[in-house]
Formats: sequence, C-alpha cells, structure tokens
Amino acid sequence: MEKLQPIIEHISALPPFITHNVSLKDKNWFRTGGNAEFFAEPSTGQEFQEALQFAKTHNLPITLIGEGANVLISDAGIAGLVIRPALKNITISPYDHEHMLLHAGAGVSMHDLIVYCLEHNLLGLEEFSGIPGSVGGSVYINLHYFEFLISQFLLSAQVIEKATGLMHEVDNGWFNFGYNYSTLHQNAHYLVLATFKLKKADALQTTYAQGRRIEIMRHRAKRYPTKNTCGSFFRNFHEHEVTLVSNNKKMIYVAYYLDKIGVKGQLRVGDALVSHQHANMIVNVGNATTADIIQLARTMQQMVFEQFGIVPQAECRLLGFDMHPLLS
Ligand SMILES: Cc1cc2nc3c(=O)[nH]c(=O)nc-3n(C[C@H](O)[C@H](O)[C@H](O)COP(=O)(O)OP(=O)(O)OC[C@H]3O[C@@H](n4cnc5c(N)ncnc54)[C@H](O)[C@@H]3O)c2cc1C
Repeated sequence: MEKLQPIIEHISALPPFITHNVSLKDKNWFRTGGNAEFFAEPSTGQEFQEALQFAKTHNLPITLIGEGANVLISDAGIAGLVIRPALKNITISPYDHEHMLLHAGAGVSMHDLIVYCLEHNLLGLEEFSGIPGSVGGSVYINLHYFEFLISQFLLSAQVIEKATGLMHEVDNGWFNFGYNYSTLHQNAHYLVLATFKLKKADALQTTYAQGRRIEIMRHRAKRYPTKNTCGSFFRNFHEHEVTLVSNNKKMIYVAYYLDKIGVKGQLRVGDALVSHQHANMIVNVGNATTADIIQLARTMQQMVFEQFGIVPQAECRLLGFDMHPLLS
C-alpha cells in the first residue's frame, strides 16, 4: 500500500478544530488501522463548512466517520481530511397530539439519544438499544434491527453539500432509503442534523420501553460480540442473488452459509477471529491488523463461493484503500 505523502509543509495554519497526522486506531471499533492525514471535529455547522473549504483549498479527499462502529480502516491510514462531526446537540419540539419532534446532531451517539428519549417519554428509537454508532453513521446505513429501520422514524434532516458547503433541508424521501442504503452513499452530501418523529408516552409506557431496552441489550449480549468488531462484516444477500430455499423462503442470511461451513470461533488469521457467537462477525482478539481482517474476510468469501457459488459482500465500510481489497 502507498505511503501517505505529507502535505503539512504547504499548509501554514490549521483551524483549531483540524489536526494533522492523527491515529484512527482508537476511533474505530476494530481498533486497527493507520492515521488520518488531517482530522477535523467540527462542532457547529459553520465549522463543518470551514472543514469542507479547507479540503477544497488544499485539494484533499474527504472521508466521514462517526463512532467507527461499521468501518475497517486501512493500515496505511486515510489520505486527505477525515471529518468526525462533533455536533452533539439534542432538542425537542411539538408536532401533534401524539408525537414530538426530536432533533439530533450527526455526532450524537445512538446510546445518548435513546437515553434522552426515554427521559423525555419519547418512544421508538429504543428498538436500537445496544447498537453502537452516531446519528450520522446510523442514517447513512439506515440502521436496522429485526423489522425496525431508522428510516421509519426519520422525518427530515439537514445535510451539507460536499462541493459547495451549502446546507439543505431534506425530507425522508430524499434519502431513498433501502436495506443498508441511503443517498448519503453517493458521497455528495453529509448528514448534519436529523429530525425524528417519535410517539409521546406516559410514565407507564416509558417504564415498559425501558424494560424492553434492557431486554434487547441482554439478548444482544448473548448473541453478538460487543467489542473489537464492526458487527456484521458482510451484508445479507438480496433475494435475487440466492437460489437456496428453506421453509419456502429464499435464504438471504449470510451467517447461515458461514455457519454451514463451520467457521464460527474456528477460522483465524493472526488475531482476527470469526466470533464464536456469530459466524458473520469478525473480532480483533488481540493485536490484529487490518490486513489480518482483510485476509480472513477474503477466506470467508472464498469458502462461501466454493460451497454455494455466491460471494458475500462487505457491509462494513472499507476506508483508505487504493483498491477494493475483497473479492467482488
Ligand atoms: C457490536 C456491533 C453491533 C452492531 N449491530 C448492528 C445492528 O444490529 N444493526 C445495524 O444496522 N448495524 C449494526 N452495527 C453496525 C453499526 O453499529 C452501524 O452501522 C452504525 O450506524 C455505525 O455508526 P457510526 O457512527 O459508528 O458510523 P461509522 O462506522 O463511523 O461510519 C459508517 C459509515 O457512515 C458514514 N458516515 C458517518 N457519519 C456520517 C455523516 N455525518 N454523514 C454522512 N456519512 C456519514 C461513514 O462515512 C461510513 O461510510 C453493529 C456494529 C457493532 C460494532
């Protein structure tokens, strides 16, 4: 992989919220990867605009990250400017008799947002309890857990246009949400603020929701690893991609195929191990590098292809690679 060419000598003064040559290892859930050439944490819309202007002036590619719960960062790092929005404001406003609006900055963690909702008797988002991530990353991927999608709660948003720095108010339809998909994938706009429409609750309903939240988290802790992973490494298959049928249903779950092969808790490259809890989750059990994780993921792809003739594709976002490092 190519080494980053530092351009710091050409840049006289950095805005206070932009730093140079910053480790990303502690900013992603795999705990792997190299440095960001430049790293910005804008805490206002104006700083976000200034960060985009900075990248434009110096001709730097831009990469967004949130809590790093769904990314794998190259060992060579990320060239250009990495932006991690630090917009952490949460407010509420009235909507109608049954609902309130919840406005949350892109940098708010889903955990904090759910706690805030339950403190303010607002229901809906507790279905995502225990899933790590920021509002920005969660809208990007259309966060999902069983039948719940974050797009079911998102009413509107503020996005910033990469090319111009202009802010736009957009509605739910603008995002063109699908499974693991939103318009944000086109990398032309970034999320600044999301507005959710949530149900008002009374004290009893909130207590029930709090109980449900605890139950979801308990259930998740039994089923999934809770650290040093990106969650599901591969996305589930689309129905048209598979031929295997079980109980009259197309078998879309990639973990099913990996389970059949028997990789769980067995397949390992260096300190990158297929979780013993879930066949579609890779865990850094020590000092794995991103290269180890890539090699393991390629082996998993190869095995599924050899046995079932289909190649799983990453759900985890691969950042800082010159070329796609997996099988496609
Ligand atoms: C243990 C574990 C369990 C998980 N379980 C689930 C689960 O049940 N369901 C599920 O859906 N996901 C799950 N995930 C994946 C992850 O939690 C989600 O994808 C989460 O939304 C990632 O948010 P993030 O802030 O960490 O985004 P990051 O991982 O930092 O970034 C993910 C993508 O979002 C983009 N992005 C981030 N912020 C912005 C922004 N402001 N504007 C535009 N783009 C942006 C990034 O460029 C990147 O492409 C799990 C992950 C882990 C580690």
